Amino acid sequence: MIHQAKAMLGFVLLVLSIPLADAAAIKALIIDGQNNHDWKTTTPLLKKILEETGMFAVDVATAPPAKGDMSSFKPDFAAYRVIVSNYNGEAWPKETQEAFEKFVRDGRGFVSVHAADNSFPEWAAYNEMIGVGGWGNRNEKSGPYLRLRNGKWVTDPTPGSGGSHGAQHAFVVQTHEPSHPIMLGLPAEWLHSKDELYDRLRGPAKNVTVLASAHATKETRGSGEHEPLLMTISYGQGRVFHTALGHATEAIRCVGFATTLQRGTEWAATGAVTQQVPANFPTADKVSLRP
Ligand code: ZN
Repeated sequence: MIHQAKAMLGFVLLVLSIPLADAAAIKALIIDGQNNHDWKTTTPLLKKILEETGMFAVDVATAPPAKGDMSSFKPDFAAYRVIVSNYNGEAWPKETQEAFEKFVRDGRGFVSVHAADNSFPEWAAYNEMIGVGGWGNRNEKSGPYLRLRNGKWVTDPTPGSGGSHGAQHAFVVQTHEPSHPIMLGLPAEWLHSKDELYDRLRGPAKNVTVLASAHATKETRGSGEHEPLLMTISYGQGRVFHTALGHATEAIRCVGFATTLQRGTEWAATGAVTQQVPANFPTADKVSLRP
């Protein structure tokens, strides 16, 4: 009897251990379905980058296509710790917008990837969450630019359009907040693989911490300014990680992009980062691509 009971206990523990391990994962939801970028290619790459940390259980919510019936797009945000947007498209239903605002405001995480910061120019709360954004007729009415002046980030209300970029190229990303959990242990400078260097983003720019920037040189038809590319924003009790990087596959394959996405998503979900910086992280003069 005792042996049987022990065997039974072992079996029960084995069965229990499977859902328990799963329950320990951070539930993340990627949103896609509309984007002026190739989301059908990039969402699986983003999902794989997050899943290979072993920390995240990732689902994808795909919105209806442009001019489709958006009224039924109501993801169960409350089931997740963090939402990652790979979406740049038509407005969500009011109910979905309100659920998303509540989700972040009440203390969960949001990650905006590349053109997700082009989306929803008319949605005030969303623009507060991303801090700054581009295109969609954004201009001085959307809010100021963020500009690096004498080593500090300041707001610049100069009139002008919001969002542009020069020729795609590899560029050096510079760390500004080396003690922030997302940046801790990363080099002060690292060479990011060929990408669009978003410049002249503008928006409410409230509660923004610029973690990293790059110099958008005039030679590459950039703004001539240091442009914020990795940011955190606090919105209510929630944490937002905004990466302006990640135009297409070559940019997403950069170990620097992947590492900051992994760390930024963990931070947005939990407020801490437990991951190690990989040994193959890019250096100031050498790009490092994932397989
Ligand atoms: Zn792009």
